[in-house]
Amino acid sequence: MGGERPTLDQVRRELGDCQRCKLCSGRKNIVFGTGNPRAELVFVGEGPGEQEDLQGVPFVGAAGALLTKMIEAMGFGRDDVYICNVVKCRPPGNRNPEPDEIAACEPFLRAQLAAIQPRVVVALGKFAAQTLLRDSTPITRMRGQWRVYEGIQLMPTFHPAYLLRNPAEKRNAWADLQAVMKVFGKNPGSRT
Ligand code: URA
Repeated sequence: MGGERPTLDQVRRELGDCQRCKLCSGRKNIVFGTGNPRAELVFVGEGPGEQEDLQGVPFVGAAGALLTKMIEAMGFGRDDVYICNVVKCRPPGNRNPEPDEIAACEPFLRAQLAAIQPRVVVALGKFAAQTLLRDSTPITRMRGQWRVYEGIQLMPTFHPAYLLRNPAEKRNAWADLQAVMKVFGKNPGSRT
């Protein structure tokens, strides 16, 4: 994606029926992203799981239910924000995305963010944070610290799937999201 400022529709059209990496062979649907194309707040996850692949919508499985709760506790709805992933096609068996797959898909993520130009990006988990920031620092060290991505404030935090496996970390993730809420002048609602 060259050029200055594409629209989200242009980015989607450019992606097309993507065959740029091997994930295309196992996918049912490309999971491009969902929500407000003019969102001030964008959440970036890792890649589609089974439900997301079946429905073509990000974060609609178990981790998605937790993410939706987190977004609502922040005082937003899923339709207010934009939600997408580093890779747009499901890695087989939900394995981690591989470097060549991330490299093939990353330009589209960057183009999505260039199109939306949000005030804040929340990077959910290590793949989102490390890919956008080009920084291999572990997420356990990066989380909770404001960073800057292409002039946009970026908050790295834990991935909701990680929080489902490690519920004790939810309080840290909530602290990270409260820092984000402050930018938007929102007061904390109930804990997730
Ligand atoms: N996990 C992700 O990272 N993204 C999704 O869309 C669903 C689960």
